[in-house]
Amino acid sequence: MTRDAEAKGFGKGTVQYRLKDWGISRQRYWGTPIPIIYCATCGIVPVPEKDLPVLLPSGVKLTGEGQSPLARVPEFVNTKCPKCGGPARRETDTMDTFVDSSWYFYRYTDAQIATAPVNRDAVRYWFPVDQYIGGIEHAILHLIYMRFFTKVMRDVGLVEFDEPVLRLFTQGMVLKDGSAMSKSRGNTVDPSETCAKYGADTVRIYMMFAAPPEKDLDWSDAGIEGAWRFVNRVYRLAGKHEEKLRAGKPRAAQAWRLEELNPRERQLLRKAHQVLRHVTEDMEERWHYNKDIAMCMELVNELAEAERELEAGKLRVEVFRAALELLVVALSPFAPHVADEIWEGMGNSGPLVRVAWPAWVAALAAEQEIELPVQVNGKLRGRLRLPASTSLEEIQRLALAEEKVQQHLNGRKVVKIIVVPGKLVNIVIM
Ligand SMILES: [Zn+2]
Repeated sequence: MTRDAEAKGFGKGTVQYRLKDWGISRQRYWGTPIPIIYCATCGIVPVPEKDLPVLLPSGVKLTGEGQSPLARVPEFVNTKCPKCGGPARRETDTMDTFVDSSWYFYRYTDAQIATAPVNRDAVRYWFPVDQYIGGIEHAILHLIYMRFFTKVMRDVGLVEFDEPVLRLFTQGMVLKDGSAMSKSRGNTVDPSETCAKYGADTVRIYMMFAAPPEKDLDWSDAGIEGAWRFVNRVYRLAGKHEEKLRAGKPRAAQAWRLEELNPRERQLLRKAHQVLRHVTEDMEERWHYNKDIAMCMELVNELAEAERELEAGKLRVEVFRAALELLVVALSPFAPHVADEIWEGMGNSGPLVRVAWPAWVAALAAEQEIELPVQVNGKLRGRLRLPASTSLEEIQRLALAEEKVQQHLNGRKVVKIIVVPGKLVNIVIM
């Protein structure tokens, strides 16, 4: 409707913020004191700047009987009027915590500065925030308050930009039996108990694998068991060949050349570099960690299959080692402890967090291409070049769409398409 109105020139789109005035005072101890003094003669008098900040008194009793706890502290309440010097009373309400949560993050750039709310140079260096991660429940209140405070701070010259955050990501929730965990419902899972039983690596692998981070995750004990088995499988696989691996010379991921690999070695390193490519790209942009872990599982399957060739001398230990190292690197953001153990077990110096992230090699990660002759009624009419992993349906679609094949089909009815995997495609027409 907006586009239509704009196209026809009778209206235009605009953004309306329904940000209303809101009370900032609370009858609580924890909060920033409101710097106001009441004088019988002068009325409401702000605390002069030289006397700021007004500090919270310590040792205040919290009685739960209503009113601000500060009102029961005469040494705090009773003061002198800054204007006439006569007896006066301090404001005893404090500011609600959202006043702080709307701008505290600027203070992180320099928590020591005592002469200003924020260090402008530090804020200029660090801000705006590249990536904010938070629950969707913050989207309408906290996030709009922090943007509002930022605009005020911009107007008074404390910051030099309009928006505090460049990119927002709202993560899903961990559910139990389909609903949000809550103590009153009694459906909570204690992560520290689960960590004590399975280790933090398993818990993290499970949570990253069970759902992409923007989706809710329904907690499952069977899922935890599965993650535990996977972590163990990787650990055992590496441990079994530890001695051999230590003997195999380490080589940088980039140092392998396609030509020096036999087909089996090529297949293993291809998978390893594909995993590394996917995890690398995911860390930057997509964050589909569940897919990353699924790919690591596929690589573990490949490694398990390659074991036989390794033992039969058909696959070099250096290649096995290279693929296993990439697996460990790719897993390290999810399972850092186990990854470090395996890494060091192979004779590398750790910890992995101090090792440069390797670059994947495009030539090694590239899908193997095959050429498929396409026949029409048994006669060669065209050729397809496609990745070896292309599905049957996709091969059929591509064969029908091939230009030379199209000329020979000439609108006639296709009876069937026979695909002999890796060999040929034959299109039977009437
Ligand atoms: Zn006064």
